[in-house]
Amino acid sequence: MIRLYNVTKAYAGGILALLDVTLHISKGEFVFLVGPSGAGKSTLLRLLLRDELPTRGQILVAGRSVTRLKPREIPALRRSIGMVFQDFRLLEDRTVYENVAFALEVLEYSREEIRRRVPALLEMVGLAERARAFPAQLSGGEQQRVAIARAIANNPPLILADEPTGNLDAATAWEVITLLDKLHKRGATVVIASHNQEIVRAMQRRVIALERGRVVYDGAKEAVRLEA
Ligand code: ADP
Repeated sequence: MIRLYNVTKAYAGGILALLDVTLHISKGEFVFLVGPSGAGKSTLLRLLLRDELPTRGQILVAGRSVTRLKPREIPALRRSIGMVFQDFRLLEDRTVYENVAFALEVLEYSREEIRRRVPALLEMVGLAERARAFPAQLSGGEQQRVAIARAIANNPPLILADEPTGNLDAATAWEVITLLDKLHKRGATVVIASHNQEIVRAMQRRVIALERGRVVYDGAKEAVRLEA
């Protein structure tokens, strides 16, 4: 699903956000991306979305060469990725229902299809009862679940989450992780950048650790090493 080959991302001033990163995440994996602040986690996610181009190296997402996409091919890449952010990024002047519907309007779904899909999505994230509420009337965990419903509205095969529990208390953080786990069980490939050591430890999934732009640990490689 995701392949990076010798990816380096340098910013102005000589900052190396990523340095010679090579990694492979298979379809159907659930991976935590960990590392201290500034390690390069967000940069990696932005490169997968083609928000930015790497300075060097190749990136493949779902068989597409992200680095070689033509501008008109970028929307198709982004439609195949559901992105979840730490700060929810909901439209404050629209209801829960309208926030999710809007994502589908942008993707040019028909009215009928939107009327069919939005209730199913809200049901899936456990917010069917809150459809008419505005974001400000929701808890942080509920807002993040709306953001997840929006991110998965068109059923993307890949879900990327950048510190999705960063603004949440422990109990609510678990609600959000449990939901992402449910989406994984339904077939999505899930990559979560997270600082939350308790959650990362408890989930016992593959962990890729970055430090100063380098991969310093990869659970998949470790598993191979231990078997050998
Ligand atoms: P993390 O998500 O692990 O906290 P980031 O990917 O945000 O790390 O940042 C990695 C490094 O790249 C940091 O040193 C950060 O300051 C730098 N960086 C990130 N984005 C930019 C940018 N747009 N311009 C310059 N430097 C950046």
